[in-house]
Amino acid sequence: MKKLLTLWLLCVSASACFCSCAAPAATVSAPEKLVCLTFDDGPHPAMTGAVLDILEREGVPGTFFLIGNRLDRECAPLVKRILDGGSAVGCHTSSHDYARAYADAASLRREIAEWESAFESFVGPLPAVRLFRFPGGSANSAFRRLGSAAAVLRAVPIDLGYTVWDWNVLTDDAAGAGSIEAQKAAFDRSFSAYERSGAGAPCVVLMHDGIANAHTLTALGQIIAFLRQRGYRFVTLADLSASF
Ligand SMILES: [Zn+2]
Repeated sequence: MKKLLTLWLLCVSASACFCSCAAPAATVSAPEKLVCLTFDDGPHPAMTGAVLDILEREGVPGTFFLIGNRLDRECAPLVKRILDGGSAVGCHTSSHDYARAYADAASLRREIAEWESAFESFVGPLPAVRLFRFPGGSANSAFRRLGSAAAVLRAVPIDLGYTVWDWNVLTDDAAGAGSIEAQKAAFDRSFSAYERSGAGAPCVVLMHDGIANAHTLTALGQIIAFLRQRGYRFVTLADLSASF
């Protein structure tokens, strides 16, 4: 059973987004402070492994939204390492090309089918919980131009059995944040807004492992320590998708 859950979510554009989730279950209690660390645009031969080194050292899971055309023989062991370590993976389209992926519903379906085919070819069976994140989020610039017509595209991954996730906290590490100070400032700003929202939604942090960025690695360690100190429990979006 599926329903559309409206969360307060902050996109790159700072506009509101949505998340579609499955029905409530008993695995996660509502008042608990939960956080999902998410990493987009990988796998990357060096960066994904460096992120995993930190997650494994800290004993926390992450959720990786992978680009299909980056799934190859070289990166397959990294994806297996993600899964073997208790983290989750999701679909982030095959090309991450707005013009191709968002041309129409058929194009988006093809992008997802290509992602699935690449995953099955190089990694193995598709994950039991299907997670999807739109490149640019569900309020990306292409969808904003389409207006109400974007609803058809937003429905595509849901119709294919995926749970769609945006984010509500970010570090702007893919939007030109060129220093650890800039990433920290972006995190502080969005996390304060998230806490002020008081909506009780899980904290979903957006970071990127698609390009090598030492500042992202530094920020990741600091964010884990900060959230742990605030009493957050680290879970994956696959955990949450089975909990709403
Ligand atoms: Zn992306």
